[in-house]
Amino acid sequence: MTGLRIGHGYDVHRLVPGRRLILGGVEIPWERGLEGHSDADVLTHAVMDALSGAARLGDIGKLFPDTDPAYAGISSLKLLGEVGRLLREEGYAVVNIDAVLLAQAPKVGPYREKMAENIAAALGIDPEQVNVKATTEEGLGFTGDGSGMAAHAVVLTERVL
Ligand code: MG
Repeated sequence: MTGLRIGHGYDVHRLVPGRRLILGGVEIPWERGLEGHSDADVLTHAVMDALSGAARLGDIGKLFPDTDPAYAGISSLKLLGEVGRLLREEGYAVVNIDAVLLAQAPKVGPYREKMAENIAAALGIDPEQVNVKATTEEGLGFTGDGSGMAAHAVVLTERVL
């Protein structure tokens, strides 16, 4: 049996006025931000869920319950670092991560490299192992009409212990 394991993550947050917009740990100037218990970094949440899936750790709702005041307003990069620690404890190393943000606006192209760097730094891996991309959904659905953002992530991990 191969020591490779894949994981997929998906997340959605609502866009609301009066919140900062944090994506991949980067604060992006915008008229609205994502609503959530933590900083609501939808991209980082999808990556965390993908890693949790690969290592059979369940999901981030189980690891970091949104009923726990300890996680109120917390940086999702901190939580990602914790997932990375659990992953290493389980004997897995990240091979690569590919994440995609689904958002009609704003344009996030200029921030993609910084997001990849932040995600890599939180996990203690090389930025070359992380790819971040973005797409609109052509004005369709809840991402298209600007009521929310979604993200998918796929990760490949390898058993090293
Ligand atoms: Mg989330």
